Amino acid sequence: MRILHPKWFLLAVVLGTTPLWAADRTGALLDDYGDVKTTKADKALKKEQDDILKMLNAGNKRHAANMVHGKDPRIMVVSCADSHVTPETVFHTQPGDLFVNRAFGNVVDKVVLASLEYGATNLNCCVLVVMGHTDCTAVKGAMDEHANPRTEDQWGSLNQKALYERIEPAVSEIEAVRTTQEAQTGKPLEGADLIEAVVKTNVLNTMHDIRQKSPILWGLERTDKLRIVGCVYHKDSGKVEWIKE
Ligand SMILES: [Zn+2]
Repeated sequence: MRILHPKWFLLAVVLGTTPLWAADRTGALLDDYGDVKTTKADKALKKEQDDILKMLNAGNKRHAANMVHGKDPRIMVVSCADSHVTPETVFHTQPGDLFVNRAFGNVVDKVVLASLEYGATNLNCCVLVVMGHTDCTAVKGAMDEHANPRTEDQWGSLNQKALYERIEPAVSEIEAVRTTQEAQTGKPLEGADLIEAVVKTNVLNTMHDIRQKSPILWGLERTDKLRIVGCVYHKDSGKVEWIKE
C-alpha cells in the first residue's frame, strides 16, 4: 500500500480544520513587538478575558431566551463610543427602534456616512440624532493636543492623530471666541464648562460634516424627509440637552 507523503497529509489536516471564512487573509500584520514573555499579570489578564467571554455567553443565552423582535427603525443616532452613553439606554428605547453608529468623539467618516445613507434610504429613517456628551475623553484628548501639540514622531498611533484632527476645529473655534465670551459673561470659560462648549461645537461640526459630505443625506434634509438634530447627554443628570442651531 502506498503511504501518503507527510506534506500532503499536513495539507489535508490544514484544509480539513480551517473554516472557509478564516482561510483567506492577505496582507501582513505588523509584528514588531519582539519576544512576548508570559508574566503572572498576563495569566491574571487571560483569566479575566476568559471570564468576560463566559459572561458574554451567559448574557447572550439570557437575551436569546427573552428576545423581543423589534420593528424597523425610524431613528438614526451618531454617538460617542463611551460606555456610559448608550443611546438605547439614554432614550429608553427597545431593540429595533434605533439605527446606531458609534465612534469615539461622535465624529463621522466615509464608512459611517455610508451607514447613515443606508439607514436613510433603505430603512427609511426620518430622524438623525448626533449626540455628544459631557466629560468626553476624546474631546479632552483633542483639547490637550491643541494645548501641547505632539511632533510627528511622538504619535503612538496615527489613527488617534486622525481622530483628534477631526475634533480639533471645535477646539479652535471655542478658543477663538473664548475671550469675547468671557468679557460678555464676566466669568472665565474653563474646566467642565469649557469642555462642554467644545462638545457642543463638535456636535454641530459633525452635523455640518454629514450635510457637506453626504449629498444624499443633505438632499433628504432639504426636502424635509430627514430631520438632523444635535444634543448633549449630561452624564451626571442623565438628561439630554437639545442644541439650537
Ligand atoms: Zn466621548
